[in-house]
Amino acid sequence: MAILDVLSFPDERLRTVAKPVEEVNDEIKQLVSDMFETMKDENGIGLAATQVNRHVQVVVMDVSEDQNEPRVFINPEIIRKDGSTISEEGCLSVPNQFAEINRPISCDVEYLNYNGEKSFLKAEGLLATCIQHEMDHLEGILFIDYLSKLKKTMIIKKLSKQKGKPDRIVV
Ligand code: ZN
Repeated sequence: MAILDVLSFPDERLRTVAKPVEEVNDEIKQLVSDMFETMKDENGIGLAATQVNRHVQVVVMDVSEDQNEPRVFINPEIIRKDGSTISEEGCLSVPNQFAEINRPISCDVEYLNYNGEKSFLKAEGLLATCIQHEMDHLEGILFIDYLSKLKKTMIIKKLSKQKGKPDRIVV
């Protein structure tokens, strides 16, 4: 097991589109273990492989209060979305920034599990939000991309102050 480095916005590697996993082999299982360790170390509830600079369709998640319901989604595909809800989202790749994002309230997902078996999940609420957020990462999309230009600029300014760097980022 190893703790991996998490990429931070505006790192362009976060914009990479992830490729499907061809086989759930030992290498992928190792990545899954390392991603869980990294997610817990960062106090996150979800992590996409894109965020640790591995561009394959792998997502790990644990949205339970006691952090005892680990979930792995390999090659996830949303086959149904329904309703809409607004919830506050944050992201390990956009440190300490939060924003209200509107997404479908429920979704059905097809994916491969840790053993490479075809699986299906009906997700609602926080779980559905988290799945959609992480699957966006696999497409190179960040939650701040849904914000207005003004709000996005404010977040980028705050981020640049956080790092103690002069504000040179233009959107
Ligand atoms: Zn994220």
